[in-house]
Amino acid sequence: MKLLEEKILKDGVIKSGNVLKVDSFLNHQIDVPFIAELGKEFKRQFADCPINKILTIEASGIGIACVAAMSFGVPVVFAKKTTGSNMDKDVYFTQIYSYTHSKTNDVVVSKRFLNKNDHVLIIDDFLANGCALEGLIDIVRQAGGTVEGIGVAIEKGFQGGGDKLRAMGFNLHSLAIIDKMDAASGVIHFRQEQE
Ligand code: 5GP
Repeated sequence: MKLLEEKILKDGVIKSGNVLKVDSFLNHQIDVPFIAELGKEFKRQFADCPINKILTIEASGIGIACVAAMSFGVPVVFAKKTTGSNMDKDVYFTQIYSYTHSKTNDVVVSKRFLNKNDHVLIIDDFLANGCALEGLIDIVRQAGGTVEGIGVAIEKGFQGGGDKLRAMGFNLHSLAIIDKMDAASGVIHFRQEQE
């Protein structure tokens, strides 16, 4: 998506450890009219899928999931990071390794908000190695629901998570795929759009 690529080139900052900071419009300050355009693009990409729920993970997936939900007219459920002590029994539980924080989080979704009748679009802000999305897929699987698709704003293609999920057969669309980025020069290369 050209609009997102241009925004990344203008405002993104490459940090050490292959981390891209986009906190001026997505991850800290949120440019709501801008990300609303990303939400509309997800609607175009998944127009043919019978989606009745969007699933994401707190915290940084919530904003983009909400604007997408406006376009689909469906609710958002966000997986919560939790500590064992306040664990409710009626939850789906999984563990997700956080790329940016180098730690494993316990993650839950209440059974009240996801079940076997749900046709889910999973949304996240970033895709790197795929741990966050694999955890969310696991939660939908536990609920007996269907993963209709996966929508990601920024995929770091060179970290391989996206290609792994595509090889597993998931209907994954990323709005911008970075194939190469270099902290020293600030240069970012995007994968050319197919189709
Ligand atoms: P994965 O689980 O695919 O390895 O990493 C995806 C998760 O880590 C996303 O939910 C996102 O919050 C975070 N993440 C991974 N890479 C980056 C990055 O380069 N920048 C930012 N801001 N978050 C990232």
